[in-house]
Amino acid sequence: MKTASDGSAETEGRAEETEGRRTILKWAMLGGGAAIANLFRGSAARAAASPKEQAARAAVERATRGMPAPRIRDVKVIQVGGGGINDSTVVKVTTDQSGLYGYGCATATFPGGRARLVAAAVDQYLKPLVMGRTTDRIEQIWQLCYMSSYYKNDTVLNAAIGGVCDALWDIKGRQAGMPVYQLVGGKCRDAADIYLHVGMGSKDPGRELVENSRKAVATGCRYLLVAMFIRDGAVSNLYGQPQFEDGSRAYDRDKEIRKVLAAFEAFRKEMPPEIGLGVDVHSSLDSIRAVQFGKDVEPFKLFYCEDLLAPEESGHYRIVRQLCTTPLAIGELWNNPHEWRPLVEERQIDYIRHHVSHIGGFTAARKIAAFAENFEVKFAWHGAPNSPVGHMTNLTLDLTQENFGIHEHVGYPPLVQDIFHGCLEVRDGYAWINEKPGWGIEVDEALAAKHPITDERPNEMRAPDGSIIQGTG
Ligand code: MG
Repeated sequence: MKTASDGSAETEGRAEETEGRRTILKWAMLGGGAAIANLFRGSAARAAASPKEQAARAAVERATRGMPAPRIRDVKVIQVGGGGINDSTVVKVTTDQSGLYGYGCATATFPGGRARLVAAAVDQYLKPLVMGRTTDRIEQIWQLCYMSSYYKNDTVLNAAIGGVCDALWDIKGRQAGMPVYQLVGGKCRDAADIYLHVGMGSKDPGRELVENSRKAVATGCRYLLVAMFIRDGAVSNLYGQPQFEDGSRAYDRDKEIRKVLAAFEAFRKEMPPEIGLGVDVHSSLDSIRAVQFGKDVEPFKLFYCEDLLAPEESGHYRIVRQLCTTPLAIGELWNNPHEWRPLVEERQIDYIRHHVSHIGGFTAARKIAAFAENFEVKFAWHGAPNSPVGHMTNLTLDLTQENFGIHEHVGYPPLVQDIFHGCLEVRDGYAWINEKPGWGIEVDEALAAKHPITDERPNEMRAPDGSIIQGTG
């Protein structure tokens, strides 16, 4: 502070300082972090600042003034019944600041995802826990939700946490006027390579696979994946034996394996070698069949073989690794770090493939991606079902984390596009992110309310002898 011999400037300076303290107190009461920081700034430092520095400080003060931390005023669940793969659950968090809210994906994957339990977990447990808290502390709120139950790593609870906390990321992005990817360091790639699903039917699987693949490649896609054990979802229910697309009513695992291997022969003979091929086994083989299958598909040079084994049979991955070089991807059934962490540390797999909401959303997924990066394991998040908010979360991770592998994409039907505005775009085989603040998605809640989830049903998968076997998602 400048001092004058007649004291007038000093008096003026004290008056300025008193006024300054009043302003600081006002800002502090409003919760402004910059105001609190000002309490520690000495007058000598202000006097020493150059005009340029003073202008910069003033700009910061202007930017942060009057921004009290938003507080959570309401939490609600929006469930969209698009039918089967198009069912999704979104959490909306509303703040006490006018027009400031956010959406987060809480989808528990179909068809046995237990969507109604996720809604109950949000409404009855997490909402009372987070109401009134500041939206600024995403990590702390995540930890609070995660630790509060004592029993952790539950798919339903994780999905609920993912929904609530990803809505806070959306809010933070909207506050900043930036996409979430900007909040975590910006892009390290422009867009994400995608793969599409291709069917092979049952009458002439090789020919159908090649025909469907040519159509997908014509759109610019470079990677294609065949899912084993796909049945007609419309007839999978609790009350009758589910039916395959070929009319049969039970899993014949050997028949399915022969069908896939024959179709892959045709694919590699007919399709350009640069077109990537993958397979999702859906954990539906028993262990020794799975080990043999891993070897059998090695000559087809897949980009990956997904969920070759169920989590409870993960010990066999070590054996598969020693027998073949088929790239392995696991994760959509795994939400407990104690299950998958050894596989990453021992480099027994190549891709980790969690369903992001099942592990607690964006906050948790960033940590898992960073952990896997240390072991040169890539990630390829589970992309179904069709939750545009969740897909934008996946894509944000794809673009901001170094060890991105590939992005699973499933096209959006008109109803999903009508409800979710701002869905990611696919061009030339890449997924491109929405550049709007937050996740960049707006939800037509009135239209969503007209389409509740009605067809959620548990799996019932049987072998030809009638015994129950592992079901597909
Ligand atoms: Mg899968």
